[in-house]
Amino acid sequence: MARRAALLLVLQGCRALSLSPSGTVAPHHASCAARMGGVMMAEAEVLLEVQDLCASVQDTPILKGVNIRVRRGEVHAIMGPNGSGKSTFSKVVVGHPAYEVTGGTVNFRDGEDLLDLEPQERAQQGVFLAFQYPVEIPGVSNADFLRLAVNKRRAALGESEYDPIEFFGVLGEKMSSVGMSMDFLNREVNSGFSGGEKKRNEILQMALLEPEIAILDETDSGLDIDALKTVADGVNAYKSDSNGIVLITHYQRLLDYIKPDYVHIMSKGQIVKSGGPELALELEAEGYAFLDPAR
Ligand code: ADP
Ligand code: MG
Repeated sequence: MARRAALLLVLQGCRALSLSPSGTVAPHHASCAARMGGVMMAEAEVLLEVQDLCASVQDTPILKGVNIRVRRGEVHAIMGPNGSGKSTFSKVVVGHPAYEVTGGTVNFRDGEDLLDLEPQERAQQGVFLAFQYPVEIPGVSNADFLRLAVNKRRAALGESEYDPIEFFGVLGEKMSSVGMSMDFLNREVNSGFSGGEKKRNEILQMALLEPEIAILDETDSGLDIDALKTVADGVNAYKSDSNGIVLITHYQRLLDYIKPDYVHIMSKGQIVKSGGPELALELEAEGYAFLDPAR
């Protein structure tokens, strides 16, 4: 039980990423490689480069060659039917132990091989996942959990650790930015939180950890429209030219608030189509029938 709690802490302490398609034509509206005043600007640095990623769970292949490339400053949306492998992809990138990588590479920044790092090392290096189903960690207070996770990240960056009082000040500002009251600090991590409160707590972790790449797995599910706007504001406040975001979502609605540069469709463990924001609008109108015309 203690070991499981420790693992959950590690995985919760992970979270965050961003990507772009490998071998596909860049949509004209790409945020990087912008053409300004007739001068072609240099492309931003690649943050995450996933090539031919294959992974299995309990000997069943789930990911069958995923390719995606995310540069600094980009927002990528991954959409796709239930069971297509979106959550598996996000969990493999952060190192969830239930999944076995059977092929491919995941490079971070200037070529660090993420697959060689332990989950906590990935988190400390700035890779973050906001879980589709955040776990509850009974017996651990939210405030202690957040402070320990943030201090681990700061130590990895060579920054001084926060003491509890200093951290309280940092927390106050970030919590109001995601619409959470300070009452949640003394609660046990996610214990008894509503679906929406868990999602806000995930975004709070992202805001505090300041990852370089954040993967948000269906962060919009379970949120009412006001909470969705608050959470989207939190994500937009975090978004910068130096980090990347991968949004996994079923709904165009979230993309009205967080504008993607690229939209990818995952089906049967592969990214089968990539394009710009218009792809999400097409999906909204026509659904996923094109993936399986015989259906
Ligand atoms: P999505 O997020 O696109 O809905 P998932 O990645 O959650 O899809 O799941 C893809 C497939 O992998 C599904 O068939 C699911 O049942 C299976 N799968 C994912 N995780 C596990 C697991 N830990 N054990 C068994 N099967 C799993
Ligand atoms: Mg999922």
